[in-house]
Amino acid sequence: MGTGSIQLARLFGIRIGASPSWFVVLFLMIYYLSGVFDTALEGYSNDTSYVVAVIGALLFFVSLVLHELGHALVARRNGIGVSSIELWFFGGLAKLTRDPTTPGVDFRISAARLGHPGLAYGTLPAGTDTGAIVARHTPPV
Ligand SMILES: [Zn+2]
Repeated sequence: MGTGSIQLARLFGIRIGASPSWFVVLFLMIYYLSGVFDTALEGYSNDTSYVVAVIGALLFFVSLVLHELGHALVARRNGIGVSSIELWFFGGLAKLTRDPTTPGVDFRISAARLGHPGLAYGTLPAGTDTGAIVARHTPPV
C-alpha cells in the first residue's frame, strides 16, 4: 500500500489517498447499489437509481474517512505523527509514524471513531476498520 496511491484530499494537513484497489471496490459498490436502488426506487428512471447509488457509495467512503480521521487526530493529539489516511480494498487505514508508547494512548487511538454513529457502524462489513490494527505495523515515514 502507498505505492500508486492517488491523493483524493488533504484534511487537517493529513493526506487522504486511495490505492488503485479502492477504485475496484468503488466500482463494485456503485454497481451493486445501482441494482438495489433500481428495485427500491421503482417508477424512477435508471439515471436516478445510478445517481443515488453514486451518492450512497461516496457517503460510505466519507464515513470511512471520518472514522480514520478520528484515529488520526487522536494519535496526533497524543504526540504521534500521521503520515496519511489510505483507502484500499479492505477499507481504510490511518498510517501512524510510530507505535503508541502506553496502553492508554493505544486505547484512546483505537476508541476514536468520529464517523461511525451506531447505525452506520453496524452496516460496515468486517475488515473495513483496519486502521488501528495495521497502523501499529507501519514503519516510520
Ligand atoms: Zn477504526
